[in-house]
Amino acid sequence: MERPLIFAANWKMNHGPEEARAFAQKFLALTSAVEGRSLWFFPPAVSIAALSETLGNRPDVSVGAQNVHWEPKGAFTGAISIPMVMEVGARLTLVGHSERRHLFGETDEQAARKTRAALNAGITPLVCVGETLAERDGGRTEQVIVRQLGPIFQALQPGDWAKVLLAYEPVWAIGTGKNATPDDAAQIHELIRLELGRREVVQRVPILYGGSVNSGNVAFLLSRPQIDGVLVGGASLDPAGWAELIEQGSRSKVRPSGGYDIIAG
Ligand code: PEP
Repeated sequence: MERPLIFAANWKMNHGPEEARAFAQKFLALTSAVEGRSLWFFPPAVSIAALSETLGNRPDVSVGAQNVHWEPKGAFTGAISIPMVMEVGARLTLVGHSERRHLFGETDEQAARKTRAALNAGITPLVCVGETLAERDGGRTEQVIVRQLGPIFQALQPGDWAKVLLAYEPVWAIGTGKNATPDDAAQIHELIRLELGRREVVQRVPILYGGSVNSGNVAFLLSRPQIDGVLVGGASLDPAGWAELIEQGSRSKVRPSGGYDIIAG
């Protein structure tokens, strides 16, 4: 089966509920559902309900959380649990985004616990990995990616991977305007696929690229068969710009068979 084509918007700490509603209304008028293409939004947690309500029942569109705790409830001030985000409409969650790792000290082990908890609760995890500039310059990119994936391989059974997605996001490319070349990105995607293969994990795990993707470079990136979609921050914040990026990216390849079946809902 063909892997899907996924456009995922990470709004980071932008767009409260009112802005999210206004975004959704404009965005729905600018795009229509296309078979084999999934459009995902990761708004701030407080906007999940507003966004999923306004986006309504478009079968190609889903909303997710940017971060969750692995425990379902308890004394974790400031944290939000998976059942809570599911209750307000989230069907996916980012795990281990580089800003969580580098600004908030999230570890590889915590990312693995979140991935396990997401699967247990029935929500689809999109797990992010990627090296810093120092790690890249030091020739340690592969080592870092393999290290980040290690606890996740330990926490999951091979069959679990049918419900997991990965995103390769080089930290030096996030929000910097410097994106990896399609060749660089494809090479790391291949490395990740090799690691999956070594553990007999299904080859269908979609792998997204993220890091300064915009409407000018998206088609080049997605022209590589190794890249199954894009995870986009800055260029997803404006409805017209995001719709244009999706349009440009979709020109390069819309996979003929089926979108991605996320596990919740
Ligand atoms: C991201 O937040 O995951 C990201 C890739 O950001 P940007 O597109 O702004 O580099």
